[in-house]
Amino acid sequence: MRIVILGPQGSGKGTQANLLSEKLKLPHIDAGQLLRDEAEKNTVIGKNIKSTMERGELIAPSIAPKILLKRLAKNDCKNGFILDGFPRDVGQAKMLGKITRVDVVVELKVSDALAIKRLSNRWQCMRCDTVYGITLLPKKSGLCDKCGGKLVRRKDDTPALIKKRLKLYHKVTEPVMDYFKKQNKLVSVDASVPVGVAFKKILALLK
Ligand SMILES: [Zn+2]
Repeated sequence: MRIVILGPQGSGKGTQANLLSEKLKLPHIDAGQLLRDEAEKNTVIGKNIKSTMERGELIAPSIAPKILLKRLAKNDCKNGFILDGFPRDVGQAKMLGKITRVDVVVELKVSDALAIKRLSNRWQCMRCDTVYGITLLPKKSGLCDKCGGKLVRRKDDTPALIKKRLKLYHKVTEPVMDYFKKQNKLVSVDASVPVGVAFKKILALLK
């Protein structure tokens, strides 16, 4: 099954994508991580991404689909995937349709107030970028379960910047839901409930 998972930050998107990946034995493809990994490589695209990021500019819209195409062509994606972090707007959704077939789009719905509350209690590993928060607490306070790295607050997790990102989500990403709804591919789940409850709901809707 080829699944796209969409939702604002604070909806528990990454957590649900990981749970789905384990349950369905499909790779979790985190588009943001894919770009960061590519930037560390000594390839033409990698160097391009790195210098763009260093200049603080936006990565060209053609770059992400190129990297995504390469990743989706790998053998572990032959039975499907869980894609997270892409598409972010209707243009990217159309591009995705050219790269691959999407079977179902899972939308995680959460109010702005709850998203802000969750994001205000979030820490990230300095080393491997794993995110911790209300839905995922580290076993040892302040240290990453996976690699032992130090957990820090993200600089962009201030209430003002969180609100700005949510506003952008409503404006450019929410139209993506309508785009997939018209194709009868959209399922929406209330993500304000505990992680396990939302996960069961998602599984039921995928059947
Ligand atoms: Zn870590």
